[in-house]
Amino acid sequence: MRPKIGLKTATILVACLCMIVPVATALILVDRQETRAEDAYILQYARSVLARSERSADQIDAAAREINAIPPASPCSDDALRLMQRLDLRSTMLQGVGYAEGDELLCSSFAGRTPVPIGKPDLVTRNGGVLVRTHVRLFPHDPDYLVIVTGRAAAVVHKQLTLSFVERVPGLALSTFEWRTKRPLTQMGELDPAWFRAAVTHERVLRQDGHLIAVVRSQRRDMGAIAALSTASTPDLAWQASVILLPIGLVTGVVFAVLMIHVVRSRLSLPSLIQIGLRRNEFSLVFQPVVDLATGRIVAAEVLMRWRRHDGEIVPPDVFITAAEDAGMIRLLTARLIERLREDVGAFSALPADFAFAINLSADDLHTPATVEALRRLLRDAEPGLQNLVVELTERSLVDVEQARSVIEQIRSLGVRVAIDDFGTGYCSLSYIAQLKVDFIKIDKLFVHALGTDSPTSSVAGLVIELARDLDLHTVAEGIETEEQAGMLRSLGVDFGQGWVFGAPMTLEDLLVQVRAERTAILHKAVAA
Ligand code: C2E
Ligand code: CA
Ligand code: CA
Repeated sequence: MRPKIGLKTATILVACLCMIVPVATALILVDRQETRAEDAYILQYARSVLARSERSADQIDAAAREINAIPPASPCSDDALRLMQRLDLRSTMLQGVGYAEGDELLCSSFAGRTPVPIGKPDLVTRNGGVLVRTHVRLFPHDPDYLVIVTGRAAAVVHKQLTLSFVERVPGLALSTFEWRTKRPLTQMGELDPAWFRAAVTHERVLRQDGHLIAVVRSQRRDMGAIAALSTASTPDLAWQASVILLPIGLVTGVVFAVLMIHVVRSRLSLPSLIQIGLRRNEFSLVFQPVVDLATGRIVAAEVLMRWRRHDGEIVPPDVFITAAEDAGMIRLLTARLIERLREDVGAFSALPADFAFAINLSADDLHTPATVEALRRLLRDAEPGLQNLVVELTERSLVDVEQARSVIEQIRSLGVRVAIDDFGTGYCSLSYIAQLKVDFIKIDKLFVHALGTDSPTSSVAGLVIELARDLDLHTVAEGIETEEQAGMLRSLGVDFGQGWVFGAPMTLEDLLVQVRAERTAILHKAVAA
């Protein structure tokens, strides 16, 4: 399989993953948030119902204590009836109180001394201490009441009172129930008996039979409450979460994917992109002037490669040259550079015969005779302007001097001169300068920029210049950005200079224009003199 296809597919896959993971995380978070919000929503109903039932029970107990203290001989005396009316008024959760005997109230806060039948008990709680009637019709056309009898004391409770405090939520069912027996005391809406049995802990939320169910248990009484809502009627509680989390997930996903594509494109696939770039002719050459520092005249140019991808992206040379070197592809780029120089050969005839061009070679170029062959062909076809070639070798490219030596010697035998590039930034510099015949030393821009500063490297340029003088080598300083730097280098005795102050890398046409303009100016000056 072509690496291009493999990489593309891999990139797309990885990018998709990068998109999916944060979006899925957001969805999971939204889902969790929704579950939590639903739990809280349904629990609040069950808790409120239970709280109100507990309050009713407290009031029933309080009333029962006082009614049971009435002397049994005269349970319906004036005093007793007044007490009942006061208790009724005082109790917010009770509709009435009375004195019970058998299946009727002998007297009550609402019917006075008229006996009121209450029927048989439906529930007997607390070891027979409390009798509960869940469906007592006290007056015709009235709803059923709940009548709770403790000893002789009866409390009448409106069955909806503990339940009807909420505005009607469609589909919401509520109930209070006796915990021990799981039998409902009050109920509103449809509830499955199985849900009561599911109540085992203090608080619990179930999702069952298409319902959201909360069951809560009283801490102090034998009672519990249930709230249930069909899932279809549950409001969308997570929209807030989704409004925030989903876009965050999406944006993160997109950012991840873009980053990933960027990383994959700039790292993993660079060698294959270089190959594609070579096929598509995306590489071009630029030329940076080198001036004679004594006269200020442009005497040479360094040839540098540029890569503009078909989508317009400019890849910096430091990136693609290093990638090509690492991938063992630098020879292809060097071959392309020499090829392109040959294509432009005609233009060079406009240059002075002593004009020089410098090209950069990497370690791999020095390990193959193909480089020598390519240079030989270039020189054979070249016009006078291209006769003076210099190859720039970095210390890095000379790590294996033994292997490089023969190629360098052959290159020199073509009349090509050799410069050591980036001098001082590598290691064991002196040894191969002595071993190889070298013509120039290029002082790295690092040391040029340190000139005149108090950086520890500020004196390196001076040392390199002295060394070059001792070895009888020419010096070229690169990266000169200011007139001051140019002045200092000149006074230190550097022969040639290169940098933005003289000209940034430019097209061949621009170089020719600049050189021609300079020559004309000199001619004019000479004529005027
Ligand atoms: P280098 O050989 O040291 O090239 C000089 C670099 O310094 C160039 O960067 C040039 O644009 C930059 N430069 C020129 N004047 C100034 C200045 O005044 N100030 C500063 N700060 N920089 C300046 P570029 O073109 O980005 O090339 C970077 C490196 O890539 C080169 O460093 C060279 O090692 C490598 N390279 C470029 N083209 C080729 C090539 O065709 N073949 C090989 N093997 N390597 C190349
Ligand atoms: Ca160079
Ligand atoms: Ca350099």
